[in-house]
Amino acid sequence: MRLVVVGAAGRMGRMLIKAIHEAPGCTLAAAVERRGSPHLGQDSGLLAGLPASGVPVTDAAEPAFAAAEGVLDFTTPDATVAFAALAAQARIAHIVGTTGLEPQHLAELAEAARQTAVIRSGNMSLGVNLLAALVRKVAATLGTDWDIEIAEMHHRMKVDAPSGTAVLLGEAAAQGRAVDLAQQRVAVRDGHTGAREPGTIGFATLRGGTVVGDHKVIFAGAGERLELSHIAEDRGLFAQGAVKAALWGRGRKPGLYAMADVLGLDSL
Ligand code: NAD
Repeated sequence: MRLVVVGAAGRMGRMLIKAIHEAPGCTLAAAVERRGSPHLGQDSGLLAGLPASGVPVTDAAEPAFAAAEGVLDFTTPDATVAFAALAAQARIAHIVGTTGLEPQHLAELAEAARQTAVIRSGNMSLGVNLLAALVRKVAATLGTDWDIEIAEMHHRMKVDAPSGTAVLLGEAAAQGRAVDLAQQRVAVRDGHTGAREPGTIGFATLRGGTVVGDHKVIFAGAGERLELSHIAEDRGLFAQGAVKAALWGRGRKPGLYAMADVLGLDSL
């Protein structure tokens, strides 16, 4: 499968180039970066710590998409929306790992998904998607007298909060309770907040060092507490998940899909 990596010089972009190199049946069709990037023209293999690939980093996304079967996109929300339109036009699978998407970005992805397969997940790892399925079950089982709090920690360079994974876990908890996360979410607490509102889903964000991604979902009841957690040790994991999603999405009918579809976790 011929795959384009956009945001090729980013932390995840380099991991994606490596994951494609290691995946049987996949080849790197193009490596795309933003206009003005200092990495334009560099060999994408060397950039990813591999032997030279002969594929230089380019800012010409459109011809790259026209010659490929899928695009792996871990960039920024605005860039992802622009790439969604191009992937739809080229009718190639669009794998979106970008986080921090606002409702207007999601609406544009849904529009693109009318023409091609779009697979989006705030976390592409098997462990986190399994955790989300467990969180949905536990939330459905316990009543609202159990408070749900989600704590996450990431490296100091991360720009959005709470993490896409924390939001994914919050959505799983909200689904389990049959409520809307947007109505129940408490993402910031500071100063005199008053007592906790029953039924809300709280988030706590920690940033520092080089942490790849730690998440903990806490169900706090009267006199007992249940904690489910996941620790990502290597971001190569997310890249491998994205390649797996691309292979699954090849030739798939247009629509918006999640990593749970790719991993077959829907029935859990
Ligand atoms: P990063 O800043 O290291 O990389 C982003 C790259 O995108 C940069 O190289 C930047 O130049 C490039 N870029 C920005 N705009 C562009 C454009 N218009 N065209 C082409 N390239 C463009 O960030 P990162 O740590 O690699 O993370 C990227 C995104 O992936 C974030 O939203 C992060 O939260 C998310 N992420 C998701 C998962 C997951 O499993 N879903 C895992 C890790 C990170």
